[in-house]
Amino acid sequence: MEKFIPDEVRIKRTLENYERVKNNIAEAAIKAGRKPEDVRLMCVTKTVEAEYINPVLDSGASLIGENRVQEYLAKRDLLHLDGVEKHLIGHLQTNKVKQIVGEVDMIESVDSVKLAKEISKCSVKKGVISNVLVEVNIGEEDSKSGIFLDGLEELLIEIGALPNVAVKGLMTIPPICEETEARKYFEQMHKTFIDIKSKNLDNINMELLSMGMSGDYEAAISEGSDIVRVGSAIFGARQYF
Ligand SMILES: *Cc1c(COP(=O)(O)O)cnc(C)c1O
Repeated sequence: MEKFIPDEVRIKRTLENYERVKNNIAEAAIKAGRKPEDVRLMCVTKTVEAEYINPVLDSGASLIGENRVQEYLAKRDLLHLDGVEKHLIGHLQTNKVKQIVGEVDMIESVDSVKLAKEISKCSVKKGVISNVLVEVNIGEEDSKSGIFLDGLEELLIEIGALPNVAVKGLMTIPPICEETEARKYFEQMHKTFIDIKSKNLDNINMELLSMGMSGDYEAAISEGSDIVRVGSAIFGARQYF
């Protein structure tokens, strides 16, 4: 097999991007009257080779997000993951649950009772507690996963009753749109988050609101995001093979 030779220029650019995104996050937080350390940067590493991820991890990145169970399990041994938190952010099929339970720190993409039950079952079997976020389809788009707002509370109540699953908050991907429109979706998500929190549902913690990606993370921060998930603004445009 040919040895993969990483592109030094691309590594340098990636590190510059990472620093720039960190600075932008801090500035957006301050502008919103928040503390920079209250907003976490997730580096979304899907489709990116370990050679370009490790320099960012070595520079102090402490949270990564991957979309696919298979891809993550195949490349994690190549990653410098000491002290790094790992979240699954992609749509999770029920038949992949047993492979990922216990292998990541959070599953951000829970959107049905069926999926939550499977996570619960596998977590009991493995003797672990699975931290999850519930994914909300805020734009009610058929093309996206996530629960619609009108089903959210009922879903949370049902998940709250399951053993070994700990709900920590909400995640969303708004429709592709202009920033002013995205802002409205983020604002609506934040309102929902605060509203659910005030209801103190059994076994439901509303600590984390995960929203904002490369194109809109600053808007998301000003509307109350706790975790921004940034891929292409750090690693460049993704190449799918
Ligand atoms: C790919 C992905 C991201 C990152 O997207 P960018 O626009 O590249 O920053 C964030 N969240 C989820 C769920 C994703 O699938």
